[in-house]
Amino acid sequence: KEELNIIQGALELRTKNVEVVHTPLADCYMLSSDAVLDFCTMSDVMQSGFTRIPVYENDRSNIVDILFVKDLAFVDPDDCTPLKTITQFYKHPMHCVFSDTKLDVMLEEFKRGKSHLAIVHRVNSEGEGDPFYEVLGIVTLEDVIEEIIKSE
Ligand code: ATP
Ligand code: ATP
Repeated sequence: KEELNIIQGALELRTKNVEVVHTPLADCYMLSSDAVLDFCTMSDVMQSGFTRIPVYENDRSNIVDILFVKDLAFVDPDDCTPLKTITQFYKHPMHCVFSDTKLDVMLEEFKRGKSHLAIVHRVNSEGEGDPFYEVLGIVTLEDVIEEIIKSE
């Protein structure tokens, strides 16, 4: 029965998109690009428990970098290193996907790609002005796997 559920979940990847499984921006643990890596910030990052942390500039919807917790391995909190120093050193590529990307396509991209986290955005053409890219949140490999193995 368990196996059937997993097969079912795998088959349904074709019909669901990343919007269904993404973590909304409001729930994302992020850092501001002007943050300073002092003891307080670094322990907060450690306590968050997340491995990949989006970095935003000015507005939470403006994600400009990804910090990996392992980037902090050589950072001494007493130095109060600006976060920018670290992100500019590692320059991890950011991966963006549209919210209507199907989960099977997303899974293939995660398998092929370097990162297991992607920024989810969509084109917002509601309202008066010109259409613009709107960031909805993030999606990780774990979110896709979760959709396969969740039993129901
Ligand atoms: P890993 O398991 O590779 O160490 P992780 O535990 O930081 O990474 P994932 O396992 O990739 O994160 O994801 C677990 C859940 O947490 C997913 O739902 C994902 O969308 C969410 N998530 C990942 N990073 C963040 C973050 N910075 N803020 C909020 N939610 C996040
Ligand atoms: P991240 O996703 O945060 O970059 P990672 O690259 O360290 O994490 P995983 O994504 O969990 O590691 O695993 C990628 C591959 O590397 C897997 O095949 C895993 O088995 C392998 N791997 C992970 N850690 C080690 C290790 N210490 N020694 C050898 N292989 C490892």
